[in-house]
Amino acid sequence: MNLADTIRAIPDYPKPGIVFRDITTLLGNARAFRRTVDELVQPWAGGKIDKVAGIEARGFILGGAVAHQLSSGFVPIRKKGKLPHETVSIAYSLEYGVDEMEVHKDAILPGERVILVDDLIATGGTAVAAATLIRSLGAVVEAACFIVDLPDLGGADKLRALDVPVRTLIEFAGH
Ligand code: AMP
Repeated sequence: MNLADTIRAIPDYPKPGIVFRDITTLLGNARAFRRTVDELVQPWAGGKIDKVAGIEARGFILGGAVAHQLSSGFVPIRKKGKLPHETVSIAYSLEYGVDEMEVHKDAILPGERVILVDDLIATGGTAVAAATLIRSLGAVVEAACFIVDLPDLGGADKLRALDVPVRTLIEFAGH
């Protein structure tokens, strides 16, 4: 099985010129989902990872499975206003305008080893903000994991420039 073939490409979604990489078809394929999680966690199998942080919303699905596999805790990084307890937040740029993401202040402790998870890295704006948020709590970002990298958009390189090791399983050219 070729994992890339289990991801559906939707041209011109959500707007003209963008090819949306729809991972719901991968998630719905039992063998593909298991293989994805197994391959993503492989470098840390048997190692000590305290927390897996997933980025809303597709990072939750994947991050929950990754955390289970690594016997780690799971921490949601959410859009502003969704978390009920005390939070720390960070603003980040989107293509148009800015947004904010948050994490519970007590969800990650100083010195903890954290793996960041999302489905896809494009420009890296989202993942860089999430890694910065985790570091602001004094934790160590051991790595950032994504199913898909769009290398032409440079996001993975931005993370590496911040000394965050990046693990991705599939690359698609373009955006
Ligand atoms: P970025 O901050 O540019 O790296 O964008 C990453 C976020 O946007 C991730 O949460 C992705 O799920 C989503 N995303 C960006 N581009 C695509 C795409 N072509 N297909 C699917 N999701 C995308």
